[in-house]
Parts: sequence; structure tokens; C-alpha cells
Amino acid sequence: MTNIRIGNGYDIHKLVEGRPLILGGIEIAHTVGLLGHSDADVLTHAIMDAMLGALSLGDIGHYFPPTDPQWAGANSLILLEQVNGLVRSRGWKIGNIDSTIVAERPKLKPYIKTMQDKLAEVLSLNPDRVSIKATTNEKLGPVGREEGIAAYSVVLLIAE
Ligand code: MG
Repeated sequence: MTNIRIGNGYDIHKLVEGRPLILGGIEIAHTVGLLGHSDADVLTHAIMDAMLGALSLGDIGHYFPPTDPQWAGANSLILLEQVNGLVRSRGWKIGNIDSTIVAERPKLKPYIKTMQDKLAEVLSLNPDRVSIKATTNEKLGPVGREEGIAAYSVVLLIAE
């Protein structure tokens, strides 16, 4: 019986006018926002998929289907809290999270600490266990053309 498990998550959403840009549970000043059934918070979605993946519990689409009106416009932090509850109920807790947001614009550096604090608070973790990095895609591909924002995450779980 191993006492650690690892999972990875990936998400991408399209940028459109008339939507707020929510990343890591906070609103970021920008001219466009991410399109999705929920608040389209790609970072939080990637983290949840990594948590579920670590325990082979499927993906967030299974728990919060985009066809379910209950999740329309949902705050992804509420979903994160639920996924964390599921992980804890299975006897696991988060060791650490490492994530990367890939966005051409805006500059995310001024927001990283607030995102870390917010996610750590929801997950009842010390913020130093929640790493968030940001990079551009060097103007390459759909993310480089500012058609969307993507996020990757790795999560280590420890048996309680
Ligand atoms: Mg998503």
C-alpha cells in the first residue's frame, strides 16, 4: 500500500468579450474573459482534475457536467471545496500543488500571491504548498494568439 499518489490536470478555455477573467478564484482586470459553463477558471479546473486523477476518480466533467444547469456560472472554488471533500473522505490530503498558467496577456505576476492565498484558504493548506507559475506561449498557437488561456497542474496526495 503506497502512501503517496500523484495526479496531473490540464484545461483550456476560450477568451471572449463580455465575460470576467477569473483565475485561481480571483477576478483579473482584462478586456476579455474565459467562456465556459461555470466561471471557466482554468487554473482551478486543472487543479481539480489533478486531484481526481491522483485517485483515479475520473475528471471534473463527470462530477459537474456542463449539461447540468446547477453548475451554470458556478464559482469554481465551490467545486474545488467539493473535490477536496471527496479526496479527504477517501483518506487522502494534499501534499503540494504545482501549477502553470499559460496566457499571452495580461501580466499575471501581480495576481499570483492573491491566487495562492485564495486557493490555499479553500483547501486549508499553507500557501507555500500551492505553487502557481505563469508563462506566455511566445505568441505561438491559439494561446499565443490570445484565443484562450490554458493551465497545467500536478498534485501530490498523502495518505492521512
Ligand atoms: Mg474547464
